[in-house]
This record gives sequence, structure tokens and C-alpha cells, in this order.
Amino acid sequence: MRKKIVAGNWKMNTLPAEGVELAKGVAAGRGTVCPSVNFIVCPPFTHLSEVAAALKGSDIELGAQNCAAEAKGAYTGEVAASMIAALGCKYVILGHSERRQYYGETSETLNKKMEQAYANGLTPIYCVGENLAEREADKHFDVVKAQIEEVVYNLTAEQFKHLVIAYEPVWAIGTGKTATADQAQEIHAYIRKVLAAKFGEAADECPILYGGSCKPSNAAEIFAKQDVDGGLIGGAALKAEDFLAIGQGFSK
Ligand code: PEP
Repeated sequence: MRKKIVAGNWKMNTLPAEGVELAKGVAAGRGTVCPSVNFIVCPPFTHLSEVAAALKGSDIELGAQNCAAEAKGAYTGEVAASMIAALGCKYVILGHSERRQYYGETSETLNKKMEQAYANGLTPIYCVGENLAEREADKHFDVVKAQIEEVVYNLTAEQFKHLVIAYEPVWAIGTGKTATADQAQEIHAYIRKVLAAKFGEAADECPILYGGSCKPSNAAEIFAKQDVDGGLIGGAALKAEDFLAIGQGFSK
């Protein structure tokens, strides 16, 4: 049985006190969702500590939205994987399309970040996905294949056991446009096939999340698909009620 995951990417939103309130709201309502659904929240670096304290005693896990490619040293403004792990993070989002697009993250950088994540006991949530032009040119399969081959194929079999993939079509992120459940299933199944070509049966255990304007009204239909194991949620993760309602979308 693959893990079911609903992960919230808060991006650059909330002040620390607001983040604490949001986390408390998620923890307070958590009992309304089946215990087999794993909830993860990924606040900005600045509130990790306070949110970790607010989540104490709950089973909501903590993640960061990024980490540095280097272990430590003279890298002004960067935050090391060891630092976020020390604050209680279990996960780190890597390769989000906003990082690739606005901060020029390449597969080369991402390989280093993955290495840092594993060296510090973090599970990466590795994001892949095509932009609109690539989808319209029918290149989406090739794009995600390359994003996986260039980074995930460099993992050891042991590291691969601690990996979450998030498929996030860039055209669906924050736009209100969602991939249809069938589009999501088609590419999730393809991603699993690409993973299996390298890691064999272990690919059956890898959670593959859908991300891109996922909300309470569409989560159930998308999560019902065979190869969709949950969601990476942006905007709808900023309201505890909506975030929890997305978790309630699991029926399998
Ligand atoms: C995201 O950026 O990870 C995301 C899925 O955003 P949204 O849900 O707002 O589209």
C-alpha cells in the first residue's frame, strides 16, 4: 500500500503568527480525516521552529520549501538541509517549478540538493512538470522523463525508498486550471513506468502527488485515480478548512 499524502506548500505566505494559527487549525481538524492520510505542511523557513512547536503532539509532519545545494559555509542567504532537519523537518520540496523558473535551478543544482537532503535524513518531494507550451506541443512526457532521468536516476535504491514525486503541470499552478483526473492518471502512470525502468518494483511504492489548483471540489476525483497518491497543495493549503477537506477527498 502506497502512502497517501496531502502536503501544503505555503510558499511566501503568512507571517509567523499566522502560520502558527494555520498549523494549529490543521492539527485541530485533523481528526476529521482518515488517519491513513499523511499531512505535511511546508511553511517559510522563518516559521519552521514556531510551526514545529504548534504541531507538537499531532501527527502533522513538517517540511521546508527548499534547501541549499551545499552543506555549510560562505553562502549568504542560503539555508542548509542540516538546519531545517534540526528544526524538525522531515521533508523538503525540491525542484518546484517556481524555483526552476525564477531562480534558475537546474538538474545539476538539484542533484546537489537531493544529496544534501538525504545526508540529513530528509525525504525530498521532488517536483516535475511541463509548461503550457510543452503540453501544447505534446512534449509533456519527454519533459518529465528528462527531469526524472537527470536527477532521480542518480539516487541509490535505498535513497529511492525515501522519495516523494510531485507532478505539477506549470500551467495549472495557481491558475485555477486543473489537469483533468484522466490527464493526471495518464502522466502519473507514465512517471511510475519511468521510475520502474530504473528502480523496478520499488516504483510501486513511490508516492506520486498531483499539484496544480487542487482544491476540495476536485481532489476526490483526482485522488480516486490509481496512480495518484495525494496532492501538493498551494493556495488551498492556506486555509485549514480547505486543506483538510482536500484530505477528505481520499476514498481508497
Ligand atoms: C504548488 O505551487 O505547489 C501548487 C500546487 O500551487 P496551487 O495549488 O496554488 O496551484
